[in-house]
Parts: sequence; structure tokens; C-alpha cells
Amino acid sequence: MSFPGSGLAKGLAVTLRTMTKKTVTAQYPDVQPELPPRTRGVIALLEENCTVCMLCARECPDWCIYIDSHKETLPAADPNARARTRNVLDRFAIDFSLCMYCGICIEVCPFDALFWSPEFEYAETDILELTHERDKLREWMWTVPAPPALDPAAEEPKEIAAARKAAEKLAAAAAAEAGGSE
Ligand code: SF4
Ligand code: SF4
Repeated sequence: MSFPGSGLAKGLAVTLRTMTKKTVTAQYPDVQPELPPRTRGVIALLEENCTVCMLCARECPDWCIYIDSHKETLPAADPNARARTRNVLDRFAIDFSLCMYCGICIEVCPFDALFWSPEFEYAETDILELTHERDKLREWMWTVPAPPALDPAAEEPKEIAAARKAAEKLAAAAAAEAGGSE
């Protein structure tokens, strides 16, 4: 059983409770959201690393990566050797109106040519503009965050360990030489 005006009291109680809570409404675009650094905003292409292996285009579930290339023959350095051929990239584009941001292309790229950038402000009024060609994809590279720092407890990378050992050996040899000449 409810007494007269109980509905109003309940409503006011809800209003008061809500008024004292911290607001969760984001005032975008006046206030930029604080996104995690690994946010999947847009895909960037490091063209120099791409060997046109086509893995990303083949694995993309949406078929929204377009790659064109041609073969170039490089003359052999040695007259007894065979001439080498290599792929030259003519076009690399991603249609972000189809992309579902699954990240498979980035995962499968064996040459570290694709990266996530947290940039997300590239809405367009013309859907065709959402196909980013390679120059635009290359530009996104400037917005890719640096990789996270190595875990201090992690094993030293092989390349660094080898370089350090070589430097230590050289320093020891130089010190021995300096000691012998005194
Ligand atoms: S994120 Fe997924 S859908 Fe988008 S281009 Fe890469 S593989 Fe295709
Ligand atoms: S998987 Fe990587 S290297 Fe291969 S075509 Fe795609 S971006 Fe280029």
C-alpha cells in the first residue's frame, strides 16, 4: 500500500542519489577521451617493411585490403649468379568502411609492416574517403605509440647480449694491449 505523494518522494530520492554521483558523460569533442595506448583506432602501414607477401590481404575476413604490385628484376652482382626478382608495391589500401578492426592483418604480417594507432577521428561524409591509400596509411605511422618498455626481469634479447659480449671483448683486448705497451 502506498501513501499519497510516495511516488514523488521516490522520484526525488532517485534525483538526489544521481546528483551526488560522479558524472560519466564524456563531453566529446570538447574534451578528448583518455584512451588506452593500444586502442584500435586506425591501421598504419610501414611501407618500407612490406614485402608484398599478401598474407594480410588473404587473411582479412572482410577482404578490405587492396594490394597491387609488380615484379622487378635486379641484375646479379656476380656474372655466375642468377638475376634476382623482387616485388614492388604499387598500391596498398584499406577500406575502413568495411574493416571490423579484428587486427588479424597486423597479427599475421611477418615483417612488422602494420601497426595499430589510437587515432579515431577520421569520419567522412563520403564513404569512398574511408578507403585510405598507402600515403595516408604511411602518415598514420607518426601516431603509433612507441612499444612498451621491456620487462626489467625479462631475459636480455639475443642481439643485445651478442653486441654487449663483442664490445666487452674489444674493450678487454684494448686494455690488454694498452697494459702490454706500458
Ligand atoms: S583489422 Fe581485420 S577487417 Fe580490418 S583490415 Fe585488418 S584483417 Fe581486415
Ligand atoms: S602481410 Fe605485411 S608484408 Fe605481407 S603484404 Fe601485408 S603488410 Fe605487406
